[in-house]
Amino acid sequence: MSNAHLAEPFKIKMVEPLKIISKEERIEAIKRAGYNPFLLKSDEVYIDLLTDSGTGAMSDNQWAGLMLGDESYAGSRNFYNLKKSVEDIFGYKYVIPTHQGRGAEQVLFPQLIKKGDFILGNMHFDTTKAHIELSGGIAKNFVIKEAFDTQIPHPFKGNFDVLKMENFIKEKGKENIAFILITITCNSAGGQPVSMANIKEVSKCAKKHGIKIFFDAARYAENAYFIKQREESHKDASIPQIIKEMFSYCEGTTVSAKKDGLVNMGGLLCFKDDEKLFKKCQAMCVVMEGFPTYGGLAGRDMEALARGLREGVEEEYLKYRINQVAYLGENLSEAGVPVQLPIGGHAVFVDAAKLLPHIPKEQFPAHALANELYIQSGIRAVEIGSLLLGRDPQTNKQQKSPMELLRLTIPRRVYTYNHMDFIADALIKISKNAKNIKGVEFIYEPKILRHFTARFKLVD
Ligand SMILES: *Cc1c(COP(=O)(O)O)cnc(C)c1O
Repeated sequence: MSNAHLAEPFKIKMVEPLKIISKEERIEAIKRAGYNPFLLKSDEVYIDLLTDSGTGAMSDNQWAGLMLGDESYAGSRNFYNLKKSVEDIFGYKYVIPTHQGRGAEQVLFPQLIKKGDFILGNMHFDTTKAHIELSGGIAKNFVIKEAFDTQIPHPFKGNFDVLKMENFIKEKGKENIAFILITITCNSAGGQPVSMANIKEVSKCAKKHGIKIFFDAARYAENAYFIKQREESHKDASIPQIIKEMFSYCEGTTVSAKKDGLVNMGGLLCFKDDEKLFKKCQAMCVVMEGFPTYGGLAGRDMEALARGLREGVEEEYLKYRINQVAYLGENLSEAGVPVQLPIGGHAVFVDAAKLLPHIPKEQFPAHALANELYIQSGIRAVEIGSLLLGRDPQTNKQQKSPMELLRLTIPRRVYTYNHMDFIADALIKISKNAKNIKGVEFIYEPKILRHFTARFKLVD
């Protein structure tokens, strides 16, 4: 392995033992789970790469903050600490805490969307798309086409094709566009960043047509780090400066704090200066999430988040974080395992369509690979492809995803570089026997969000 380790910018105060069950036990476990890694017990998993959402490790400073929880129903001091962190980092005045990111979505979207409206994004996240549809909206993606070819190393594969979006606005009429939503980083394209230049361009287009623009900001700090690394104009800017500038182009943001916020649960809905919209959302928050100064979070949780937000934008931390993910991805790529290039912020995305060309899309190659990875090594990863995409709601036909990816999502501050080596070794070994891996077919297929609970058998 040729890529360099960075030493972790922390030392470990507490450890959580990992168990590894035998291969025979894993074969039994995955059979019992209907060949769906979501249905495994976490105790049956050695290294868990299902998601980076809420799976990070808090710092001693955050844990200490938990003890300072002020559980007053209204006006908790922790809320004001949280509000101060948001003001300092995003430059936004108005803050509503929510239980997680989708809590912010369910409060905001009905305020902005009327039936049949279009919501334009680079690539909408799955729960975000679901909330748009619940409000009667139609989610449209305008990510650049390079995002769909894993082997083109474009530095900002989360970017919008602004020309294409503008043509769409002209065709449909701006009165039928509810808002533009920029997802940073672009999770569905492989944790790929959006450049500052592109954010500016989207903002210019939005202004020109009088359309509001928001962030879906789960991984804003990772996005800022990529801007510093890859965008000449910002190489000397600090991470906090870059984040402030990014947020200056939007009216507000929904935030899943379970990613760069470095907490296990929490979310935010924030606005730059739109007091009217803020007040409307505050009122809805009371009904859906809780009183506006706690919005579904305990006082102690808000304190942990107030502190996590600040730690998540530290450059030393981000350097380690992005490097660790890149280390895994580059080692895989150099050994001939096809991955989305360049490596994204929070995960390595293995191109299962390329690795398993003998498995057709209807037999979910990335899901088949996830099962094999679990059986061979006890690692749990997740399919991002046709299984996740689902059936066409009108025709009920299986839709074909442009990419069949296996996502190896790296939790924050949890696993070491040695774990990355273990993961790379396991996948490299599997890739050498890839032609023996079998596809899967449903034996149970639920109607909505089927990937979570579906059961499968292997296709012979
Ligand atoms: C995680 C995530 C969400 C949803 O947030 P939750 O905290 O899981 O409810 C929305 N958008 C993006 C881009 C995400 O990554």
